[in-house]
Amino acid sequence: MDPPSTLRLSLLKRPHVREARLWRPLEGRPGWVVCDLCYRRCPIAPGKYGACGVRKNIDGRLYTLVYGLLSAMALDPIEKKPLMHFYPGSVVLSVSTVGCNFFCQFCQNWEISQSRLERGLMGVQVSPEELAMKAVAYEADGITFTYNEPTIFVEYLIDASREAKKRGLYTTMVTNGYATPEAIDEIGGLIDAATVDFKGGGNKDFYRKVMRVPDPEPIYQSMLAMKDKGWFIEVTNLVVPKIGDREEDVRRMARWIVENLGPETPFHLLRFHPDYKLRHLPHTPVETLEKLARAAKEEGLEYVYIGNVWGHPLEHTYCPRCGYKVIERYGFTILSYRLTKDNRCPRCGYKINIKGTYKGKSAGMPMPVY
Ligand code: SF4
Repeated sequence: MDPPSTLRLSLLKRPHVREARLWRPLEGRPGWVVCDLCYRRCPIAPGKYGACGVRKNIDGRLYTLVYGLLSAMALDPIEKKPLMHFYPGSVVLSVSTVGCNFFCQFCQNWEISQSRLERGLMGVQVSPEELAMKAVAYEADGITFTYNEPTIFVEYLIDASREAKKRGLYTTMVTNGYATPEAIDEIGGLIDAATVDFKGGGNKDFYRKVMRVPDPEPIYQSMLAMKDKGWFIEVTNLVVPKIGDREEDVRRMARWIVENLGPETPFHLLRFHPDYKLRHLPHTPVETLEKLARAAKEEGLEYVYIGNVWGHPLEHTYCPRCGYKVIERYGFTILSYRLTKDNRCPRCGYKINIKGTYKGKSAGMPMPVY
């Protein structure tokens, strides 16, 4: 092997630079590498970055440049992720880096997701151990990797999750689902729950034109890999008016979830609000969300929510058997929690799909930490 260059030696002294997981040399192209972390499987020339902008080929080896370099940290209610059926009323310490493997024109967090390291570093260095200790000090119940795509900083996610587990914290990620099965295998049981975010009904044209993602189909394979690992899954779909609100797409997605993850999988239809490059589009009409919610229920999903419409009746959880309102919410706050201790409907005894215990402490959230 060639001796390390001065550039590599100086970069390796920085705490946010670590050799990456899941890469291999590209056959027939000396010095090139392939990243196998997400389905882009970027071939990367020496000195260049992958599409996410945070993984770099330095002297024929792949490095992450965002290890522990956190762009945001906040205390959130778990309902904000959204995870409505996972430790309800609990509090998570949410963290992110910069960069993303998607290029969504509507991204609410575009300032961090579309930031690129060659334009300068952005973040505060926090070691995995420090992060877990902060979560305990803030009396959080868990840690969530969110705001930008956590797959792209998997090295830190794995180490931080390990530290979290040592301290009895749960771990979750909010993901676009584009991680390869190898990446999910690498994370294994270190993540307890995932919110898998679809946009535009998972429509292929929408993914290509509005997000620069060649094909959403691998996301379904990833969800199966997550299920195999025992992760608790909730699925969201951002409904973008005029260009990403087709009923047949939502029906297809709902059918797949029912058949492969189970009808008890919570499903969220999220209202779009104008942001980033799609400021010319209106908010999603509430009637559109309601029509799609009816369609998802008709396909067999038991728990369908409408998100980003505070005060809407589909913020609550209803018993699928008798219709009783078992959890009442306003936004991210639980107003009343009426389940029995073993998470059954108090009226008819139906077992509600809830993982974990009710914590009842998320009112007044979220709170920024920095
Ligand atoms: S994680 Fe980044 S570098 Fe790796 S394949 Fe995905 S976009 Fe490319």
